[in-house]
Amino acid sequence: MKDNTEKKKKNAVSSGTGKSRASKKAYRRKKNAIIAAVTVIYLLIVAAAAVIIDDRHPEITLLGDADQLAEVGEPYVDPGAEAYLTGNLFGETTSNVEIQVENGVDTSRIGDYTVKYSATAFGKSAESYRVVHVRDTTPPVITLEHEKDYQASWLVGYKEEGFSAYDNYDGDLTDRVVRTETDDRVYYSVVDSSGNECAVERVIEYGISEPMIRLTGGEEIEVGASFTFTEPGYEATDESGNDLTSFVQVSGEVIPHQLGTYKLNYTIMNEQGETATAQRIIHVVAHPVEAVIPEEKTIYLTFDDGPSAYTARLLDTLARYDVKATFFVTNLDPDYQDMIGRAYREGHSIGVHSVSHNYAEIYQSKEAFYRDFLGMQEIIYEQTGSYTKIFRFPGGSSNTVSRNYRYGIMSELTKSMTDMGYAYFDWNVDSGDALGGAKSSYEVVNNVAAECSEHTVCVVLQHDSKGFSVDAVASIINWGRNHGYTFKALDETCYGAHHGLAN
Ligand SMILES: [Zn+2]
Repeated sequence: MKDNTEKKKKNAVSSGTGKSRASKKAYRRKKNAIIAAVTVIYLLIVAAAAVIIDDRHPEITLLGDADQLAEVGEPYVDPGAEAYLTGNLFGETTSNVEIQVENGVDTSRIGDYTVKYSATAFGKSAESYRVVHVRDTTPPVITLEHEKDYQASWLVGYKEEGFSAYDNYDGDLTDRVVRTETDDRVYYSVVDSSGNECAVERVIEYGISEPMIRLTGGEEIEVGASFTFTEPGYEATDESGNDLTSFVQVSGEVIPHQLGTYKLNYTIMNEQGETATAQRIIHVVAHPVEAVIPEEKTIYLTFDDGPSAYTARLLDTLARYDVKATFFVTNLDPDYQDMIGRAYREGHSIGVHSVSHNYAEIYQSKEAFYRDFLGMQEIIYEQTGSYTKIFRFPGGSSNTVSRNYRYGIMSELTKSMTDMGYAYFDWNVDSGDALGGAKSSYEVVNNVAAECSEHTVCVVLQHDSKGFSVDAVASIINWGRNHGYTFKALDETCYGAHHGLAN
C-alpha cells in the first residue's frame, strides 16, 4: 500500500508541468510504463523472496510408535504415516501428499525390519523410518494322546499313550519334550527357541489292583526229607485275569535233606517298588521206613562190590536154584554195568553201595557221600529204569575208618539217609570172603553155615567180586534149604541187621 501512495504522488507532480499536450501525453505514457514494469519486477522479486523464505516442503509423521512389535507367522499391519506440506512463513497446509512405502517386513522369520516412508513435493523429498521387531512370543503346544479305555497296570505302571509338541516357529518339538513321571501324574514341558514354554500334565489312572499269588498245594506243607526239593508251584494273576506268574520271584532256601521248618517267599515287585507277596512254610519231616522182621527162617544173600567178571556166573547159579538175592553195586568195573540190569530183570534187588568205594572221598562230608550215592543211583537208573531205596555203606555203618575223614559222619549219614526214607543194611552173617581170611569156597560155606545157625533171619555178606565166594553160593543154598531157611531179596521194609555205630 505504501508503494501505491508514492506512485500517486509522482503522478501528481508530473501533471503540473507546462509543455505541449502531445509531448506531455507521450512522456506520461512512457513514464507509466516504466513505473508498471518496475512495479512488476518489484513484485516478482518480493514473491520470489517470499517463496524462498517460506521453503515449502513435505514432511512425514509416523502413526503409532516408531518401533513396532510383530508376531512371527502372523500378518503385519503397518500403522502407516501421514505426509503434509509445511513452510517457514505459512506453516502446514493440509494438502494430501502421496507417501511411498518400502515395507520389507518378513513375518515368517524372526528379525528386525525397517519400513521406509518417503514423499516428494516442490522438488523436495522427505523420508522417515520405523523398525518392526518380528518376534515369537507364542509358546509351543503339547498335545497328549489318549488310548481308549486305557488304564495303567499295577505291575508295569503307566505306559505312555503318546504325545507331540508343535511350535508355530520351530515346528515339531516332540523330541525336545521333557517328560517326568510320578506315581500318579506325568508332566510334559518344552521350550521353543525363543524361550517360550509349554507345560501340561496328565493324571494316571490305575485300573488294576495288586496281583494275587496263589500257592499250589497250600501255604503250609509237609514234605518228606529228600535230596531235592521241588517247589510245588504257584500262579499269579491280577484282577483282570492277566497271568503274572513269570514275574514272581521266589526267595528262601529249603534244605531238603535236613529236617526243619523253612520259608519260601514269593514276591512280585512293580516298577514303583511296591510288592505283592505270599509265603509258604515247608516242614521237612522224616519218613523212615518201618522194618518188618519175618517170622520164618530167612536168608538174605547180599553181594557187594560188583558187578564184576563173576557176576554173570552168580546170576546163572541163582537162576538155577530160583533164589533171589541182593546186589549192593559199585562202579569199580564199569565194563560189567549191564549185569545190574540183568540182575534187576531176573528179580534180584539192587541197592547202592558206592561209585568209587573210596573211603577218603565219600566220608569227608555228607555232601560228598550224597554225591557218590546219587551218582550210583543214576547208573542203577540207566540200567534198570528205576531208583532204589536200599543201600549199604562201604565198610558198613559200624566202620571206624571214616573217623579218619570226618568225625561223626556215620551218625550224621545214618540219620539223614533214614530220614529221607532210604534203608541201609549191614549184616549179621559175614562170609569172611573179604577181610575175614576166607580164601576158598569151602571156607566161605563153613563161615556162613556157622554164623547163620545162630540166627532166624540172616543177612549174609558176600562179594561177587570174588570168584571163590560166588562158587560157594550153590552149597550155601543147599545148606540153607536143608536147615529150613527161605532165600529172599531185600527191600526197604526188611530187617537191616544194623551194627552199632562207631563214628
Ligand atoms: Zn564194599
